[in-house]
Amino acid sequence: MENTGKNFIEQIIEKDLAEGHVKQVCTRFPPEPNGYLHIGHAKSILLNYGLAQEYNGKFNVRFDDTNPTKEKTEFVQSIKEDIEWLGADWEDRLFFASDYFDQMYECAVKLIRDGKAFVCDLSADEIREYRGTLTEPGKESPYRGRSIEENLKLFEEMKNGVYEDGTKVLRAKIDMASPNMNMRDPVIYRVARMTHHNTGDKWCIYPMYDFAHPIEDAIEGVTHSICTLEFEDHRPLYDWVLIECGFKKTAQDTPKQIEFAKLYLTNVVTGKRYIKKLVEEKIVDGWNDPRLVSIAALKRRGFTPESIRKFVDLVGVSKANSSVDYAMLEYCIREDLKLKAPRIMAVTDPLRLVIDNYPQDQEELLEVENNLENPEMGKRQVPFSKELFINRDDFMEEPPRKYFRLFPGNEVRLMGAYFVKCTGFDKDESGKVTTVHCTYDPASRGGNSPDGRKVKGTIHWVSAKTAVKCEVRMFENLIDEEKGVYNPDGSLNLNPNSLTVLPECYIEPSVADAKAYDRFQFVRTGFFCVDAKDSAPGRLVFNRIVSLKSSFKLPAGPA
Ligand code: ATP
Ligand code: MG
Repeated sequence: MENTGKNFIEQIIEKDLAEGHVKQVCTRFPPEPNGYLHIGHAKSILLNYGLAQEYNGKFNVRFDDTNPTKEKTEFVQSIKEDIEWLGADWEDRLFFASDYFDQMYECAVKLIRDGKAFVCDLSADEIREYRGTLTEPGKESPYRGRSIEENLKLFEEMKNGVYEDGTKVLRAKIDMASPNMNMRDPVIYRVARMTHHNTGDKWCIYPMYDFAHPIEDAIEGVTHSICTLEFEDHRPLYDWVLIECGFKKTAQDTPKQIEFAKLYLTNVVTGKRYIKKLVEEKIVDGWNDPRLVSIAALKRRGFTPESIRKFVDLVGVSKANSSVDYAMLEYCIREDLKLKAPRIMAVTDPLRLVIDNYPQDQEELLEVENNLENPEMGKRQVPFSKELFINRDDFMEEPPRKYFRLFPGNEVRLMGAYFVKCTGFDKDESGKVTTVHCTYDPASRGGNSPDGRKVKGTIHWVSAKTAVKCEVRMFENLIDEEKGVYNPDGSLNLNPNSLTVLPECYIEPSVADAKAYDRFQFVRTGFFCVDAKDSAPGRLVFNRIVSLKSSFKLPAGPA
C-alpha cells in the first residue's frame, strides 16, 4: 500500500528535478504489438501517464516493434483503443521503435568504430556454451579480435543480405567474466529475413531488445524509463548502451531505467501465451471474453476506466512481487457504480405470480427511485399488473427456518408496490411449481401498510405483460481456484462453470432501449452491463460485472 507519502519512483523523479538533472519529465509506455493488453499493462500505462501528469511532463506511447515474427497490425489498433479508453493521453506522441532502425544501425556502426562491438560467427548454441554460468565466467569468442575494418565490412554485408539467417550476429564487446550474464558480450543485432509490418523488407537485420530499447528512449527524450523487475539485471547494459553510443555520460544521467514489481492477480491468467491458447482453442470467446482480464475483456464485461484507475491506485507501486486478490478489483467497480448505476428490477429465473384479487385488465404505474442512495438520479415509473414474474428462489413450498420470502400463508412486500400474501400454487405433472397465487392488500400501495403491520421479506418482480425478455450471462473465475492455476502438465486448470447463460430473463421495460456498455444494478443480484458484442436491438444480452456482496475489506490505512 502506498497511500502515504511518495512512492520510490516519485522520490527518484523529485530528486532528479530538484538537482536539475531533469527539466521536464518524460515517461513512456512501450507495448510490443504481439497481443492484447491486460490489467498488468493497465498498471504500467496509468503509472507512466500518472507520473507525467503529476510532474507536468510528457507521456509517450511507443510500439516496441523490433521483433517482426510475432507482431500484428491488429494488435496495434486494439492497444491504441485500450490506452485511450483508460484515459491516458499521448497527445501527438505515438511512436514506433521501427522508425528508428536507421539510427540504431548508426549506433551499432559507432560501437564498431570505437572497438566496442564485433561480428561473431558462432552459432546460437555455441554462444550459449561460451557464455558460462552464474558461477563460472564465460569464454571469449574466437572472433572477438576482428579488426574494426573487418567488422565494419562484415556488418554492412549483414545488412546487405550477404549472410544467411543465424550465421552471423553483432555483439557488444564488454566483459565475458562479468558476474552479470547480460554483460557477457550480448548479441545486439541478428540476421533475420522477416517482413516487418512497418518497414516491410527494407531490413534483414534486426536489433535486439536490450540494444534497441535504451536508444528508443534516448531518441524520444524519455527521462524515466519505467519497466518491470525482471529487467533489473539488464540495467547495466541499458546504461552501457547509452553511454557508449554517446547519449549520456554516466549511469545517473537520463534516460534512466527504474524497475517496479509486476501486478499479479491471484488465480487469474494474464500471460499472453496462455490467453492466446484459450482464444485459439475457442475455450473463450476471443481476446475480449468477459472472463479474461485483458483490458478489452474488462471493458466488455462492464468495468469502467475509473474503477481500474482506482484499483491501480490502491495497489500502489512496489519493488517486491506480490499477488493481489481479484476481489479488490470487484470492490473498485462496486464502489464506482454504487451511486452511478440505475437500480432496476430483473428476474433471472422466472416464476409466474398471479394476484388473484387484482382486477384482470388493470395496469398501473408505480413510481420508484432510480437509485435509493442517490436521489439525484430521479425516479421512474414501473408498470404493475395482475401477472408478474418473480425469481424462482423467492418462493418455497416448504420453507426452512428463517426463510422470510414467499411460502403458503406468508406475506411479503413486492418492492415498491404492495404487500402480497401467498394463498397457494400450481404444479405441473413433474411436480415443478408453475404459478404462485397471492392476494394483495390495496392499502399497502408503495410498499407500506397503513395499519403498521410488518413483513420480513421484500422481493423484486416485473410485470409479465410489459417485461422485456433478455439473456443474462453469469461468470465465475476461468480457473478452478480450489486446485490452483496450473495442472501438473502445465496446462490451465479450468473451471467448467465459469460461464452460465440464463436465456430467459425478464427486465423492466424502462431498460428496453439500453445500449452497449450501459450499466445497471439489478436489485439483489449484482451489477450488469449490456454486452457490446452479442447484444442487438430487440435482443438484449447482459454480462454480470460483479455480484453485490463481498467479503473483501479494504486494508487498514488512510483511504
Ligand atoms: P506479458 O508477458 O504479460 O504478456 P509483456 O511484458 O510481454 O507482457 P509488453 O508489451 O512487453 O508485454 O509490455 C509493455 C509494458 O508493460 C512493459 O513496460 C512491461 O514491463 C509492462 N508490463 C507487462 N506486464 C505487466 C504487469 N503484469 N504489471 C505491470 N506492468 C507490466
Ligand atoms: Mg514483452
